[in-house]
Amino acid sequence: MLATNGRLKIVIQRSGRLTEDSVALLRACGLSFEFSTQSLYSPCRNFDLDILAIRDDDIPEYVQDGVADLGIVGENILREKKASVRQLSALGFGSCKLMLAIPQRSTYRDLRDLNGKRIGTTYPNTLKAFLADHRIKAEIIKLSGSVELAPSLDVADAICDIISTGTTARMNGLRPFVPVLESQAMLIANKRSLATQKKARLIDRLMIRIRGCQEARGKRYLMMNAPAHALARLQRIIPSLKSPTIVPLAQTGMVAVHSVVAEDVFWDVMEKLKAAGASDIIVVPIETIIR
Ligand code: ATP
Ligand code: ZN
Repeated sequence: MLATNGRLKIVIQRSGRLTEDSVALLRACGLSFEFSTQSLYSPCRNFDLDILAIRDDDIPEYVQDGVADLGIVGENILREKKASVRQLSALGFGSCKLMLAIPQRSTYRDLRDLNGKRIGTTYPNTLKAFLADHRIKAEIIKLSGSVELAPSLDVADAICDIISTGTTARMNGLRPFVPVLESQAMLIANKRSLATQKKARLIDRLMIRIRGCQEARGKRYLMMNAPAHALARLQRIIPSLKSPTIVPLAQTGMVAVHSVVAEDVFWDVMEKLKAAGASDIIVVPIETIIR
């Protein structure tokens, strides 16, 4: 059932690893709303959008069924739930890896060693597809939690789970074996909402803002003064200064150079820029870039 008040509804994780970044993304889009982990429902004051906060596992189905028009959920959950939704954009946060892991002392050397073995997981659908792709015939043991304990309880010979760091795996007497899925947070949409003119227009407006924030991520606006004759040298130092904005200064022979640079590049080259004649170097954050 699609919401009928004409406002867009987005569903995000209420309290967990995706919550903070999901809320931050919506705020970076200029949306103004109250949110706490107690909130189930947060209306935006300055956009026709309401935020619904639930368990991440239910998000794909809520969006598929039109309870919400949009959702933010990990690809791991999305893939597992096999919901019929449109994927609009990868969001660049919530990265994690679904992996096969085996007991520390295990002698398995490659995937084929899993033939005929038992693999414990809370991701049976994803694992089934992966095993079929690799022509491995193993028994999938569906678990609902504490997957990492399955080998020591002799419930399984291997597991398939989200492995954050090798360290956590090792603490449970396991070691990462073979990667199954690289995941990050995804923006998904209900297919009918995309086909409804009013909703689609709101989704488009929101997407422009989201893309703008993504474009701006990791970038800084760089301004400096330099003698005009130093320009070629400055451009050799920062290759991305291909089409900088160059403004003549009142002082003859001096120019102001403005450009967008990646923040990681900037710190490496700042001293070189100074040595090449740049002065009054200013770096400011960029909120959004609309192309
Ligand atoms: P909920 O109560 O909403 O069901 P949860 O305990 O299932 O929460 P979280 O642990 O908060 O879920 O993880 C939410 C999502 O964050 C995961 O589905 C995954 O996409 C992503 N994620 C990022 N890093 C990790 C990690 N180290 N371990 C598990 N999930 C991670
Ligand atoms: Zn969950």
